[in-house]
Amino acid sequence: MNEFDIIAQFFAKQIVTRPDVILGIGDDCAIVEVPADQQLAITTDTLVAGVHFPTDTPAFDIGYKSLAVNLSDLAAMGATPAWITLALTLPEKNVRWLTEFSRGLFELAQRYQIQLIGGDITRGPLTITIEAKGFIPKNQALKRSAAKVGDLIYVTNTLGDAALGLLCAEKKISLQPDYQTYLLSRLNRPEPRVEIGEQLRGIAHAAIDISDGLAADLGHILEKSQVGATVYVDALPLSEALLRSVATPQAIELALNGGDDYELCFTAPKEIHDSRFTCIGIITQTLRLNLLYKDERPYSGKVNGYQHF
Ligand code: ADP
Ligand code: MG
Repeated sequence: MNEFDIIAQFFAKQIVTRPDVILGIGDDCAIVEVPADQQLAITTDTLVAGVHFPTDTPAFDIGYKSLAVNLSDLAAMGATPAWITLALTLPEKNVRWLTEFSRGLFELAQRYQIQLIGGDITRGPLTITIEAKGFIPKNQALKRSAAKVGDLIYVTNTLGDAALGLLCAEKKISLQPDYQTYLLSRLNRPEPRVEIGEQLRGIAHAAIDISDGLAADLGHILEKSQVGATVYVDALPLSEALLRSVATPQAIELALNGGDDYELCFTAPKEIHDSRFTCIGIITQTLRLNLLYKDERPYSGKVNGYQHF
C-alpha cells in the first residue's frame, strides 16, 4: 500500500462535502471560497506520540483528539469551523490503526460539517498535525487582549478532569471504574466548545481555551489585556469524579494547573445566567493573578504559570 492508496482508502472518502470547497483532496492545493462578510480564522496544532498522548492511546481517540484540540482553538475565537488539512507522520502502514484513527477524526468532523481538504503523509515517529480553518463575522473574534477591568471571569463545564485522567492513564493513581471511564474520556475525547464559542460572540470580551491549565491560560488573557484577576479557588467547577477520587486541595490544584481540559475561559462585562458556565472571579486593575478563597483567605497551594507577569 503506497501513500496514494492510504489517502484514497482512509481520507478521500468523506460524507461531508461542502459547497464552499471548490477543489478538495487530489490536486497540488485545495481551493475554497470564504463568504464575503466573514473573516478566516486559522489555527494549527501538532500531537506527538509519547509527548502529547501516551503511546498506548487508542487510535480512535488520537484521531478524535487531534481534531478536537484544533476545534477548541477555533471555539476560543468564536469561529465556526469549516475545513481542515492533515499532515500525518506514521512509523508504519498499519491498516487497523489507520481505520480507527480516521473513524475518530471523521466522527468529530461530521458533527461540525467539517471537510478534510488536503494534507501530507510521511514516514517517521507518529506525529499528527492538523490545520483547521473557520469563519468569524467581521471583527467579532474573541481576542485574548479584550478583557476589561470589572469583567466577570467564567469557565465552561468542569476543570481538572483530564489531568486526573492522565495520572490514571500513566498508572500513577488507581480510580473507581466508573470514574476512570469518565476521566479517561475527558482526557482522550475532549469536547471542543464550538457552539458556546459561537454564542459568545458579542457577549464575551476575551476568551481562551484551557489547554495548559487555568492559571497559565487565564494568565495569557491577563498579560495580553494588561489587567489582573481575582479568582476564587473554591468557586472552580469540579466534577463528582474528581471530588470523589482525590482530596479537595488536590482537586483544586488539578483544576488550577492541569492541562488538556479544553474548556473555555472567558470574560464578560455582565453577569450571565447559564448552567453551562461558572463564574470564578473578576478582572482587576492590579497586574497579577490573585487566588483567594471566597472568605478572602489567600490560596497557598501550588500554582503553575503566570501568577506575576
Ligand atoms: P504533493 O506531492 O503535491 O504534495 P501529495 O502527493 O502529498 O501531493 O498528496 C496528493 C493529494 O492528497 C494532495 O491533494 C494532498 O493534499 C492530499 N493528501 C495527502 N495526504 C493527505 C492526508 N493525510 N489527508 C488528506 N489529504 C491528503
Ligand atoms: Mg505532499
